[in-house]
Amino acid sequence: MDIAVIGSNMVDLVSYLSRMPDEGETVEARDFAMGCGGKGANQAMAAARMGSSVLMLTRVGNDAFAETTRRNFEANGIDTTYVLDTDATSGVAPIFVDDNSRNSIVIAKGANAFLTPADIEDAAEAIAQCKLIVLQLEVNLETVYAAIDFGNRHGIPVLLNPAPASPDLDFAQVARCDYFVPNETELALLTGMPVQTLEEVQAAAQTILDRGVKNVIVTMGSRGVLWLSAAGPTLVEGRTVAALDTTGAGDAFIGCFSHCLVDTGDVPGSLATANAYAADSVTRRGTQTSYATREQFEQGLK
Ligand code: ATP
Repeated sequence: MDIAVIGSNMVDLVSYLSRMPDEGETVEARDFAMGCGGKGANQAMAAARMGSSVLMLTRVGNDAFAETTRRNFEANGIDTTYVLDTDATSGVAPIFVDDNSRNSIVIAKGANAFLTPADIEDAAEAIAQCKLIVLQLEVNLETVYAAIDFGNRHGIPVLLNPAPASPDLDFAQVARCDYFVPNETELALLTGMPVQTLEEVQAAAQTILDRGVKNVIVTMGSRGVLWLSAAGPTLVEGRTVAALDTTGAGDAFIGCFSHCLVDTGDVPGSLATANAYAADSVTRRGTQTSYATREQFEQGLK
């Protein structure tokens, strides 16, 4: 196995609207789609579509969504040995996308709240074989911290995507990660600093680097990506594309970056490829449905 994703899965319930509803208002959707999502599952999917072998440690509920989720992983070659059953509802995410491709997302965690540090220990032998551990914040913080600890103990690099941003996130734990990958909003929430200009993003990211993380990678939507390390800042400019639906762009970026990093060990090269991969994903609708296979992605670059 190349990558262990320890995190969430959700079933996305996506409504396409001409505009977001105001408080108390009912708005008719133009279109509706259901798909497999959740930040952990999305990132696993993007990495798998690019060619990585991925182990997914996650929990599904006792409803119809569980089988859909498991089948979706299997159809994309993701190892489901540690997709665990739970006596709860599956995680669901009602999503609204408007005509300007802005999105609003509600998350009902369900079974995801039951993923524990003990689950990591039960999967220890398999996770210990992996070359990268990928984490998000849609499962309990104690589970995230246990995964960071596992990575540190076994010499496996850890990538943490602090999404959705939690004010309770312990920076002593963040400092033990090799790659910290927030978007601008998460960076602002976590640092309490402005992120309007590139200089502001860099200043905010620098405060996290100063706390001991080796690499801070800020995704900035159409502006691209800013990478800070001891070597200094590097900007990967956003690609100009006809954006149709930006839902899941951050997960596309992280999945592809993880794949490239494990494959090549080259951080700047992996950032450039992931920036192009995520830009490609926003030209199609949906979350996982917008993620290209490696063949499709390489064909699109020609
Ligand atoms: P989401 O929450 O919708 O999954 P995010 O806010 O976590 O996304 P973004 O920073 O918006 O993540 O986007 C991640 C990456 O996707 C960007 O760094 C960029 O590479 C690419 N991207 C996103 N939106 C665009 C766009 N409109 N044009 C080109 N590239 C884009």
